[in-house]
Amino acid sequence: TAPGVPPLRVRDLTVRFAGLTALDAVGFTVAPGTVHALIGPNGAGKSTCFNVLSGVYRARAGSVRFGEHELTGLPPHRIAGLGVARIFQNLALPPRATVEDSLLLGRHRLTRTGFLAAGLRLPSAAREERAHRARVREIAAFVGLGDCLDRPAGSLPYGRQKLAELARALCAEPRLLLLDEPVAGMTADERRRTAAVIAGVRDSLGISIVLVEHDMGVVMRLADAVTVLDFGRRIAGGTSAEVQNDPAVVRAYLGE
Ligand code: ADP
Ligand code: MG
Repeated sequence: TAPGVPPLRVRDLTVRFAGLTALDAVGFTVAPGTVHALIGPNGAGKSTCFNVLSGVYRARAGSVRFGEHELTGLPPHRIAGLGVARIFQNLALPPRATVEDSLLLGRHRLTRTGFLAAGLRLPSAAREERAHRARVREIAAFVGLGDCLDRPAGSLPYGRQKLAELARALCAEPRLLLLDEPVAGMTADERRRTAAVIAGVRDSLGISIVLVEHDMGVVMRLADAVTVLDFGRRIAGGTSAEVQNDPAVVRAYLGE
């Protein structure tokens, strides 16, 4: 585990939308440096949970503690500032910028002088930018994009663009990554490759990961623990082997 990665403790989290309870007293704990999968049928509340964890939605009740910090009620930029990074389901990289420049944007929260100063060509800013570019190249190599740095992000195949988004999130040096369907839309080969990168993020970088994913092969391969939601309730939890054989989980997926 990377030093300084605290546990994430979600307790009794409740979210309501006009009459609909999207999350009903949901709780789970993500141990430092592990992959925790959040699974469940469509409408179960997975994205709502991510939206609360990242500060986009306000919870009606409950708490989300990341180490000693309470995240509920904090705005998204404060949560990001604590080292929580999120990757959205849809592509969000600027398509015309090079991969290197797109990844550099991911380091914005770590810049001291800021890219405005860099634009003004102050020597201190130039030094800082060189250091950031060196780290960006390291991270690109780590996810297997070392040979794409000079290409426009939008010119890469879909699977590599998704990897570039993962790389951009890593550029913020997060302690917790929220991945919303990271392999959706990928070919079998891209899925394998992305799963290996995610395992590397956990094993080599020690970063905690909450994984929402419909590909059960990927979930079973990667998850150290699984929480199963259905209609906003936690219906099962445990290791992937445990939840796979849980009758309540089988029923939820069969839609009985
Ligand atoms: P999942 O990601 O597991 O498919 P969601 O968290 O997106 O599920 O949705 C859970 C429930 O909350 C669904 O019934 C959905 O329609 C509802 N919901 C999600 N976001 C909103 C919103 N902003 N306003 C109203 N209802 C919402
Ligand atoms: Mg969703």
